[in-house]
Amino acid sequence: MKAFYAEEQKHHDPKAFLSSGAPQPNPEKPERVERLLAGARSAGLTIERPREHGLGPIAAVHTPEYLDFLEHIFARWQRIEGASAEVIPNIHPIARGGSYPASAVGQAGYHMADTACPISAETWNSALWSAWSAVEAAEAVMAGAHSAYALCRPPGHHAFADVAGGFCFINNSAVAAQVLRKNAACVAILDVDLHHGNGTQGIFYARSDVLTVSLHADPVRFYPFFWGHADERGEGAGLGYNLNLPLPRKSGDAAFLEALGTAFRRIRAFAPEALVVALGLDAFEGDPFGGLSVTTPGFSRIGEAIAGLGLPTVIVQEGGYLCEALGDNLTAFLTGFGGKKG
Ligand SMILES: [Zn+2]
Repeated sequence: MKAFYAEEQKHHDPKAFLSSGAPQPNPEKPERVERLLAGARSAGLTIERPREHGLGPIAAVHTPEYLDFLEHIFARWQRIEGASAEVIPNIHPIARGGSYPASAVGQAGYHMADTACPISAETWNSALWSAWSAVEAAEAVMAGAHSAYALCRPPGHHAFADVAGGFCFINNSAVAAQVLRKNAACVAILDVDLHHGNGTQGIFYARSDVLTVSLHADPVRFYPFFWGHADERGEGAGLGYNLNLPLPRKSGDAAFLEALGTAFRRIRAFAPEALVVALGLDAFEGDPFGGLSVTTPGFSRIGEAIAGLGLPTVIVQEGGYLCEALGDNLTAFLTGFGGKKG
């Protein structure tokens, strides 16, 4: 299996983060890349640099207004006297019914869901290359590869069509799914990250051609709180095409694999022509977020189970934070999935 990654993806280095109101170091560190690259290589994958793909495949799932904001907000922010080094919102509209603000501060609040996605000088370029890695992996699968892995960093699944959040700016999994739609009548996205893929759900919520399925720690007391509950099923033409499978905190391998079985039944009934796996590794028992208790051998079984669907598959990296086993967990997943094939 080929893996795609560009060095520019490492340049984004966020500092700010609030955990229960307390300032903490941002956990989405560039060092994650080194661990993940080592993990991919241990599974026998070869790493290739993606080509540039322009804004086309990104603009297919994000609004022009939002992409313009992401590209230019850092420079605009620097012109504000006394502003912080990173773009961090301090005011949010409680609903989207009001006017679109002209000011940088207003737009930061409009387009950024939380303080976990600070924007610095390198953020836009890193996010672009991260998305292009996803595009390249999708194109490899469209060209006949059984599967491909996109080492996307910064991650993407908390980014909505026009909102950043939770370390995410461009929704790489959604970009990959939309690219696959050029050849596939319908595509499923299976999100196994610890956190609910709220941005991905939001992007496809009213569509029936992309099924979104997410397994995650129950958001009743966990990020992203407002989304990820079992009764969110889609709307309009998309009603019934979103499936959320929240798991009790600290659920381990057995519970995760059982929920995966439920996900597979829904995916098989949908009969997609291709699959995107939003691969978070933060469901790990030793991940700093501590939400679920999947083991390293558990990731191997999860990979093997997903391979059993027999679908052309794009694996997109989402979360998974610095801990001793981060690289091993990726190796376990990819090896279980059958990384050396196709
Ligand atoms: Zn996560």
